Amino acid sequence: MIREALTYNDVLLEPQYSDIKSRREVKIGNRLTGPTPSGYACDLGLPIIASPMDTISEEEMGIAMWQEGGLAIIHRYNTIQEQVEIIDQIIYAGTNAGAAIGTTGDYLERARALVGAGVRILCVDVAHGHHILMKEALATLRPVFGDAVHIMAGNIATLEGYNDLVDWGADSVRCNIGGGSICSTRIQTGHGVPGLHTIIECARSDRNAPIIADGGIRNSGDIVKALAAGADFVMLGSLLSGTDETPGDVINTHEGKVKAYRGMASKDAQVEWRGRTASLEGVATTVPCKGPVEDVLEDLERGIRSGFSYSGARSLSELQAKARFLRQTASGQTESTTHILR
Ligand code: IMP
Repeated sequence: MIREALTYNDVLLEPQYSDIKSRREVKIGNRLTGPTPSGYACDLGLPIIASPMDTISEEEMGIAMWQEGGLAIIHRYNTIQEQVEIIDQIIYAGTNAGAAIGTTGDYLERARALVGAGVRILCVDVAHGHHILMKEALATLRPVFGDAVHIMAGNIATLEGYNDLVDWGADSVRCNIGGGSICSTRIQTGHGVPGLHTIIECARSDRNAPIIADGGIRNSGDIVKALAAGADFVMLGSLLSGTDETPGDVINTHEGKVKAYRGMASKDAQVEWRGRTASLEGVATTVPCKGPVEDVLEDLERGIRSGFSYSGARSLSELQAKARFLRQTASGQTESTTHILR
């Protein structure tokens, strides 16, 4: 039997009676903490985490995300010293960020250096996280850092993947494979799971490590859907790309100012960081410059607050308890986009 799986565009949330008079009454933030209450915890006013990508998260994004109530995960496509220098700048500025590591090579040395520099959130960042190398890396990292460090891990696409990562020692899990805007994993490999389906599946778990809905989120409506389906946080690449705080130069083109945005498994990124290419599962592109990330986050925040209010929910737990999803048809999808008649 072939199972059916839905994604963000296939569904809508049914509006419900609301007694929320001001969107300020809505609490959209959440606590990033592992299943063990004694472990490191961090309260985020905004349930948004910036992706560990070399065109998204370095020092400026780290500082800005923290200041706006979110979090950035500093990418690992650099030397240990370079990544530590980025963290130093963030911590001097009185802010904080998470930092990504891999599962092979220098990952343990990198993790020790990052934690030594003040990092309290490590992200074990691989494309296929439901993997023996992840199991081995978590078995190595957990005893070294104990509860003092939050370990985020991923990515996975199934309930089994989520449960295994939590059982192997992950405190939070990045969920979704193949849905990223710059991702070609599904085309290249035939594998992946529609993003919303992964969240619904992982939310069925009896483990309670935060679920991070990562990839394929295109607007605040998708964020509200992901949260309502069971995610605790969302991770964004594309929506934050092209902002002033992303690394990389502004390029002048005849269509205006643009900046690079690329998948970390794209040819460009692989050649730059490894000097060779393995499986190409991402693309490189440019996106229009969007100005300060603060403005983008404020727009998203307004949409999320409004979304909670449409479900009559003052908090994430209320949203998840009340949410009523409807599946929409192709005509419904057309009706759901702006469609001015000309
Ligand atoms: P977006 O928000 O839809 O742009 O997706 C960003 C997410 O895509 C990241 O957080 C990663 O999980 C994922 N990602 C980053 N680079 C690649 C790649 O090259 N191939 C596949 N997925 C990627």
